[in-house]
Amino acid sequence: MRTLNIILLGAPGVGKGTYTEILSKKYKIPHISSGDLLREAIEKRTKIGKKAKKYVNEGELAPDEIVTQLIKERLEKEDCKRGFLLDGFPRTVVQAKTIEKLKKIDKVLNFVASEEVIMDRLSGRRICKECGAIFHVRNVPPKVEGICDKCGGELYQREDETPEVIRIRMQEYEKKTKPLVDYYRKKGLLANIDANPPIEEVEKVISQCNREISKIRKSEGKSFFTESCFKAWHPFSSE
Ligand code: ADP
Ligand code: ZN
Repeated sequence: MRTLNIILLGAPGVGKGTYTEILSKKYKIPHISSGDLLREAIEKRTKIGKKAKKYVNEGELAPDEIVTQLIKERLEKEDCKRGFLLDGFPRTVVQAKTIEKLKKIDKVLNFVASEEVIMDRLSGRRICKECGAIFHVRNVPPKVEGICDKCGGELYQREDETPEVIRIRMQEYEKKTKPLVDYYRKKGLLANIDANPPIEEVEKVISQCNREISKIRKSEGKSFFTESCFKAWHPFSSE
């Protein structure tokens, strides 16, 4: 079966989560967010959650072993058979080497935006406690303040979204995650996506992603695909 295994890269606050949600619906493959998995583990007070809590709340990367274990378990689930959109993993070269051993990666989408755009997106972000939907106090406000439009759940601001912790997350990104941009460029997997357009123009960002994703198919040659598996994930098939 044809799979579509995609990694999303980009600084905290660039909008990865929002774009990935849209792509997940379009291509019908799961959105796997390491941050969501970690926050869930922390909330449930699992062994991994207890180990990760301090790092997540302080804005530092959690140890590779912990996050890798979470992601490995998640990727084994049935819904990942046709592919996945991996948001927030890998975040270090060690993690990148691990994922390579588990899965063949088809494309790495690297979302790029100016510092100004990023800081604005981060500081106003609100998340639904129940369904994880992402809002923004100015750019994507919910209809009723503090309440999720989709499920009525309560919205909250992440504990790691204070100015001080945001600064640490940015430093962690620069030091440990940014090297992955070169890493994947050298492997010929990288596609830069301009993530500056405001949320009203989210289609501008998504169409760049669609273009990059359809290139995967072209580069591999048509003969590889049967008509039905092509339809299953082609950008225009779900419309
Ligand atoms: P963002 O991309 O907006 O910074 P995430 O929700 O992806 O936030 O991650 C939140 C926090 O979870 C990170 O600051 C880090 O502490 C932890 N985390 C998430 N993914 C990883 C990872 N792959 N490796 C180590 N830590 C991670
Ligand atoms: Zn909700």
